[in-house]
This record gives sequence, structure tokens and C-alpha cells, in this order.
Amino acid sequence: MPEVRVAHERCTGCGMCVNFCPVDIFELGSNDGKRVALVSRMEDCWACDTCVGQCPENAIEVIESREEAAAREAKFSVRAEPLPAEERTRYRYWQKTLREILGLRWDPVAITLVKQNDPVPNAPMPRVKLRYCQSLMMARRGKTLLMPAQCHACPDGTHILGLTEIPPKLASGEMYLHFKKLASMEAAKRMVAERPRLPERSTLATLVAPLGDTPATPDVIAVIAKPEQIMWLSMSASFESGKRSTFHVSGYNAQCVETTLLPYTAQKFNISLGCYGCRASSDIGDELMFMGIPTAQMPALIEGLKRLGQKAIGDSRRKIYLPPNV
Ligand code: SF4
Ligand code: SF4
Repeated sequence: MPEVRVAHERCTGCGMCVNFCPVDIFELGSNDGKRVALVSRMEDCWACDTCVGQCPENAIEVIESREEAAAREAKFSVRAEPLPAEERTRYRYWQKTLREILGLRWDPVAITLVKQNDPVPNAPMPRVKLRYCQSLMMARRGKTLLMPAQCHACPDGTHILGLTEIPPKLASGEMYLHFKKLASMEAAKRMVAERPRLPERSTLATLVAPLGDTPATPDVIAVIAKPEQIMWLSMSASFESGKRSTFHVSGYNAQCVETTLLPYTAQKFNISLGCYGCRASSDIGDELMFMGIPTAQMPALIEGLKRLGQKAIGDSRRKIYLPPNV
């Protein structure tokens, strides 16, 4: 059981932790006559760190017990063999092709949803808890991160990706009203019901890595790029067939649902404009957006991109149809 500590000298009794804790650990009470948050049901804590992130006074600490840390380490002590050389070479080639033809500033990110009983990829866990979207942002800069549920800080992404159960306040929609992101409980319930999620506890850990360095076969490859670069990827996917694409975009749950889960479950690439959570909690630029591509679609997409790179991309970037100055 994690330990939840509230520094009462800093606590102002604002009640944010009471509202946001998905399992109602806190209540407001009195400490020497001062209104503060009290921890009333520590045994129910999921160690999701939502309270830590929401407290405006940085007054809350959630500490994993030594036994929990040791149990986690033991579970992950046997690691998978490295990928075959041929597979690693393929991913490096895809990374190089994407970066060179599109002029990507960041590495594409390989995402693997490690299932229960799968071999555990040989990758480090983060020293601090991260939101799933934060881990993607770090992977585009070169970090490889393996994150079991205990390393995830966002209860939304954690249950959507199948690492935990859905907390009651998220299932009811109540949590989203506290963020003032939806008009009513009805709208919040509908948003929750319409978004997909993996079966509870079906995923052991998420793995993110720069595509060229990934230690496991990716399920989905995420590209973080400008709209013009994402446009070329969309065209690459229809280069052979001429088929138009449709996308599932909402502004909610950009990285976990739109960039990862939808491409994973539908085996079809999807775009995302980002969401409140990922834009509020990472250094993602306002000018950037996202695409998630299932690994099975990558060979065709890379071929299409190479063909577009022979003429169309260069012509368009040189603005060959700009009218002459008059
Ligand atoms: S870590 Fe999560 S479950 Fe635990 S007290 Fe904070 S918000 Fe509640
Ligand atoms: S959110 Fe922070 S300041 Fe507000 S009541 Fe909770 S612990 Fe106190």
C-alpha cells in the first residue's frame, strides 16, 4: 500500500484533491483549527498521482512502499532476448526514411503494449511517474521507457491502455466535470462510453522507444510532426490505392486513444490534434500534431513516401505554383 502524505503547513484546504482523487481517499477536516485535507482511506489508494498533479500548493506526496518496489522489480527481473538483427535493421531504415524525406525534427516512436505473460522487454523504468503522453514525448527525444501501471501517473491513460481497472469517478464521468471540459454528466458519460479501452489488467506495461532503438516489436509507430508532414504520410498510405482516409479525432485522450489504441485495435493509421492532457503536461509545441500507424501498415506507407519524395514533396515545398510578383 502506498503512503499518502499531506503537508498541512502548505495545505490551504482548497479541496482540489478531494474532487480529483478517483477513489475518494481525501476529506476536508480540521488540524489545529485550520481547514486541511485529511487522508481517510489510504488503503484504497491506487498511487495514480492525480492528487499530486492537481494540488496547487504541491502539498501531497505519494510514496511507494519498499515491499511494492521490491515486488515490481522481482516481476520484471527476467527480460526478453534482443530483437533479431534483421528486424532492428528494418526499424532503423524506417526511422531514417521518415526523418530524411519528411524532415522530421524528432524520432518516430515505437509503442509496444506488453501483454500479461509476454516476455518483458529489456528497457529501463522511469525514476519518477510519468503520464503516457509524457513518455511518448521523451521517447521522441531518444529515451526508451518501460512503464508498468505503477509508473503511470494519469488514471485515464492507465485504464484505457488496459493496465488497471477504470476508477469509479472516471466511469461515471464525474472527473471530467471537475476539469470543466464538458457541459454535463450526460455529455461526460457519453464521451467515456464512446472511447475504446483495452480489457482491465490485460496489459502488463507500455514500452516506448525511438523506432530505430526499440528492444521489442512495436504495435504502433507514432509520428509527432507538423500538419504538412502528416499530410504526406496520409498521402503515402493512399499512394497505391488512391483511397481517401477518414480519421477518428476528438481532442480527448490524444495519445492513449487516438494515437495508440485506435490504430492498434483497427489496424489502421489515425491522426490526432492533441488533447487537453497532453498539451497541459508536456512540452509539445502548439504547431505539432500526431499520427499513429500500426506496424503492419508501415511497409506500404514507407514505399508510398519514397515515391512521393521523388518529385511531389520537393515540388510542393518549393511552392512551384506561387504566382509571380506583380
Ligand atoms: S495517488 Fe491517486 S488514488 Fe492515491 S490519493 Fe492520490 S489521487 Fe487518490
Ligand atoms: S489540493 Fe493541496 S492545498 Fe488543496 S486541499 Fe488538497 S492538499 Fe490541500
